[in-house]
Amino acid sequence: MTSQTSPSSASRHVVVIGAGAIGLMSALNALDQGLQVTIVDPGQPGGEHASSYGNAGWLSSHSVLPPSEPGVWKKIPGFLADPLGPLSIRWRYLPRTLPWLMRYLVAGSTEARITATAAALRTLLHGAAQLHQRMAEQAGISHLIDLGGLLHVYRSRRHFEADARGWRIRRDLGIAWQELSAQELREREPDLDPGYGFGVLIPEAGHCRNPGAYIAALAAHACARGARLTTATASGFRFEQQRLAAVLTDGGDIACDAAVIAAGAQSKALAAQAGDKVSLEAERGYHAMVLAPEGRPRTPMMIMDRKVIATQTEQGLRVAGQVEIASFEAAPDWRRAEIMRDIALQLFPALPRDLPASRVRYWLGRRPSTPDGLPCIGPSTRSPDIIHAFGHGHIGLGSSARTGRLVGQLLARQAPEIDLAPFSAQRF
Ligand SMILES: Cc1cc2nc3c(=O)[nH]c(=O)nc-3n(C[C@H](O)[C@H](O)[C@H](O)COP(=O)(O)OP(=O)(O)OC[C@H]3O[C@@H](n4cnc5c(N)ncnc54)[C@H](O)[C@@H]3O)c2cc1C
Repeated sequence: MTSQTSPSSASRHVVVIGAGAIGLMSALNALDQGLQVTIVDPGQPGGEHASSYGNAGWLSSHSVLPPSEPGVWKKIPGFLADPLGPLSIRWRYLPRTLPWLMRYLVAGSTEARITATAAALRTLLHGAAQLHQRMAEQAGISHLIDLGGLLHVYRSRRHFEADARGWRIRRDLGIAWQELSAQELREREPDLDPGYGFGVLIPEAGHCRNPGAYIAALAAHACARGARLTTATASGFRFEQQRLAAVLTDGGDIACDAAVIAAGAQSKALAAQAGDKVSLEAERGYHAMVLAPEGRPRTPMMIMDRKVIATQTEQGLRVAGQVEIASFEAAPDWRRAEIMRDIALQLFPALPRDLPASRVRYWLGRRPSTPDGLPCIGPSTRSPDIIHAFGHGHIGLGSSARTGRLVGQLLARQAPEIDLAPFSAQRF
C-alpha cells in the first residue's frame, strides 16, 4: 500500500511514526494542511498488533473521568483478590511500574484533580462521534460509524446513585443523558440479563462498528491522497544544527522537516529522544468476541458492575475490558480473555452455555496510558518540529479525530483549536 507524493504538493515533509488511530488521523490532517506525509509502522494498518484494532469501538465524548478516582486504592486489594475481577498485576513487573502506579493514585486522589482532568478531556472529546463521521464520509466508509448513542447499565437506580460524583461532573460539563427504567431498558435491550434494571443513554455519543477495518480504510485513504506508507520501525531522530533532519528507521533514514510520535504504548523511548521523559505504561486489556451471537446489545453498553463494554461489531459480539499490569512484551494470559467470554454468557442468557471454542476469538491489546488519564499532545522539548501524539489510554479511538486536527494545526504552525497546556509532555 505505497503511493508516491506528487511533486506539485512538495512542501514540508512530515514523518508520522505509528499507523494506529492517532497516527492516521494525524496523517490525514497533515495532508489537509498541504504537507507531504510519510507514515512509518512495522505492522499492517488495522492489524491485531495495535491497540486500535480490538477496542470496544466507543466514540464516547462523555468518557471524561480519569481511570483513577478518590479512594480507588481501597478497592484495589478487593479487585486483586478476585480471580475474575477487572484488575491483575504480574508481581515481577511491580517494581518497574511502581512510580506510574503512585502517580496514578495521586492523579485521582481528590475531586479537584479529577474535575480538572475531566474539563480538559471534554475539550478533546467534544463532538468525537461527529468528527469521526465526517472523516469516515471523506474516506467512503461512513457505514462504519454509528451515531445512535451509548449506554451505561446498572443493576438498579440505587447503584447509579452510588456513582453520583462522576455523573455530577459530567452534568457540570454540559453532558446530557436519558435515564431508562427497568421496563424501558428491557424494551430497548431485550437480550440483556434482566438483572440489570437501570440504564443511562448518552445520545451525543456513537461507536465504530469495526475498528480494525476503520483503521485499514483510513490508511488506504491517506495513501490515495498521496501519503507514503513505509514498513519500518522508527528508532530515533537525526538533528542538524539543532533542527530535525531525519527520522531514523531500521529501513534507513527518512529525511524530513517534522515528525509526529504516535507509536501508542511504545512511544516512551522516542519521546525521550525528543527530550521528554514521560510516564507511560502499556495498560493491557483483552476482548472476547462471540461470532454469530444468539443474544446481543442493540446499543453498545458499559456494564458498570463488571467494568466491561459489550459491543455488537461487524464481526461478532465483543466484550472488552480488564486492566493487566505487565510488561509490553509479556505473554498474554488468555484466562483474562476467558473471563470476558464468561461475562458475555452471563450478560446475554440466549448465548448457548456450551459455546464451542470455534465461535470465540480472543485478543490482547495494550492501551498507551499515562497515570493521569491525559494524553501527551504538543511540541517536544528538543524540537518544535517533533510533535507528541500518544498516551490516549482508554479513549484513544474516540479522541483520535480531534487529536489529528490538533496535530495538523501544530504542523501548520496555527493556533491549536483547544488549550494544549493540560496535555503537555513536560508535566511529568
Ligand atoms: C480492551 C480495550 C478496549 C478499548 N476500548 C476503547 C473504546 O471503546 N474506545 C476508545 O476510544 N478507546 C478504547 N481503547 C483504547 C484505544 O484502543 C487506544 O487508546 C488507541 O487505539 C490508541 O491508538 P494509538 O494510535 O495511540 O496506538 P496503537 O493503535 O497501538 O498504534 C500504535 C502504532 O504504532 C506502531 N509503532 C510502535 N512503535 C513504533 C516504532 N518505533 N516505529 C513505527 N511504528 C511504531 C505500532 O505498530 C502501532 O501500529 C481500548 C483499548 C483496549 C485495550
